[in-house]
Amino acid sequence: MSDFAQTVKQQADIVKVIGGYIRLRKVGAQNYSGLCPFHKEKSPSFSVHGTRQFYHCFGCGQSGDVFSFVVKIENASFPEAVRIVAQKCGIPLPKREYNSPEEAAEAQMRRKLLDLHEAATAWFEEQLRSPEGALAREYLAGRGVTPEAIKTFRVGYAPDNFNALRERLSSMADADALRASGLFSWKEQDDGSAGRMYDRFRKRVMFPIANESGRVIAFTARALETGDKAGPKYINSPETPLYSKGQVLFNLDKAKGPIRSMEFALLVEGQMDCISVFMRGIQSVIATSGTAFTEQQVALLRRHTTNVVVNFDPDAAGANAAEKSIGLLTEEGFQIKVVTLDGGLDPDRFIRERGVEAYIAAIRGARRQSDYLIERARQQFPGAGADSKIKAMNYLLPHIRRIPEKLERDQFMHDAAQKLGIDSAIMREEFRQASISRKERIEVRSSRLSEVERVFLRALAITDPGFAASRAIAVEALRAQPAWFEHLSTFSAMQALADRQANDPMDAVADPQQRALLAEALLQETEPPSRAYVVETLASLEAQFIEKQLKKIRGEMAEAERQGGFAEALKLAQYRTVLERRLSELKGSGPRGGER
Ligand SMILES: [Zn+2]
Repeated sequence: MSDFAQTVKQQADIVKVIGGYIRLRKVGAQNYSGLCPFHKEKSPSFSVHGTRQFYHCFGCGQSGDVFSFVVKIENASFPEAVRIVAQKCGIPLPKREYNSPEEAAEAQMRRKLLDLHEAATAWFEEQLRSPEGALAREYLAGRGVTPEAIKTFRVGYAPDNFNALRERLSSMADADALRASGLFSWKEQDDGSAGRMYDRFRKRVMFPIANESGRVIAFTARALETGDKAGPKYINSPETPLYSKGQVLFNLDKAKGPIRSMEFALLVEGQMDCISVFMRGIQSVIATSGTAFTEQQVALLRRHTTNVVVNFDPDAAGANAAEKSIGLLTEEGFQIKVVTLDGGLDPDRFIRERGVEAYIAAIRGARRQSDYLIERARQQFPGAGADSKIKAMNYLLPHIRRIPEKLERDQFMHDAAQKLGIDSAIMREEFRQASISRKERIEVRSSRLSEVERVFLRALAITDPGFAASRAIAVEALRAQPAWFEHLSTFSAMQALADRQANDPMDAVADPQQRALLAEALLQETEPPSRAYVVETLASLEAQFIEKQLKKIRGEMAEAERQGGFAEALKLAQYRTVLERRLSELKGSGPRGGER
């Protein structure tokens, strides 16, 4: 680890950094817990240790320090993670250092693309204010987008011009970066080479799409005119090194704080809906940009809440997207409610026509997902005949199967049977089968560490000078009597800890499995073990060792006597006596108990 990384690690508070990604609750003096972002779970088994500065998941076994967390969650390289953490903690960045030329090139490209997007955003904003932007301003005003909303969401305008943005940005980056940005198009030439670049977005209202930290990484562009010449109503940036459509939730950067404080996320379809709802004070709103949820988006959201209110357009496409999203969210253990607005209105129009109070009332009155789905089933397969009932049931079964919790599945099944008027024993059995065939969530693994291992791992990991004596005894014992320790599953972690130069014990152990075991031991500690407790544990370890030796000696003695090697047998008997005396000494000192 570089000096800079070392400095960042010392200054960063892992609880704050991780708390920026997932909800953490204080569960002990130094211990915080939350839902693991790396595996599916409903009850928290992910722990963060405040003083030790590491995290560990008892469910999936992932553990590490602040950097490894950021590497995993941001899908970043190590140097990027160091930079991200430094930025979060307000530590100024030094000259950049990278592990490989490829890594440096990649990071440089990303930086350039971010700069290009920032410049493009500012330029689009400027164009919206210019005389040429009059029509766009008119359009936005007509849609109820206020000047304040335009400023907050940095809405802009791409003029009707093939070259304006290119000319504006061409001095900022080379052709490779400009082509990679997704801001330009070109036609392939007859010889296969790329033709001259021109502006991709023209005569469109520009909605910037930001990543979770609020940096613009792409755009959604809405045509000002309709008709064949204008092209599709909405176009998005293509996939770029910065942007992947399925991995971004529109407005999450602004909504994540409100989502946590309000303890739910409102999910709408389009950017316009999202902006409109946000500007009227319901700030925990995010949008999927008109598509069904992806797994990555679910993972993004899970870090902030598992309560979602879905408000998609009531048209068929909206209902299908809602249904798909609900399916995925259900599987991931989210609590879901569904809003359907009167009069077939989308959220934006509903608020403009009926006011925000009515909209809030609609959110409050949102139906549980099961009620919504049962209603959908009844609408799609109306009638009281056996045929429609079977169809309705077949529509609901996959939804029921997805629910991770048995109790909820049973409830859903019960409601559905009742509301659909299904009372035949066979149909109930179908539901029952569906509800039991779902695999239960993975169980939290019980501890794999013995008390002896816990005590020595904790003692060897001591950094507090007040407990230096405990550590010294453990280190000395490990060096002098490795045979006492060899059989322990964490022997290699112990050796690494005894030899450690680094201050942070988690840094000393390289092997991921050993690290996970160490994390497990450290997470349960309140205070390092006392000197007396280490001595006592050492005695029991020695006793274990002697008992094993005695067993071995008894076997060897029997063998020696059988072969007539009496001198040998005598020597063994003497050794046995020494060991037995030591053992009774160790046991005679008796358990002290209590003191740790
Ligand atoms: Zn986990």
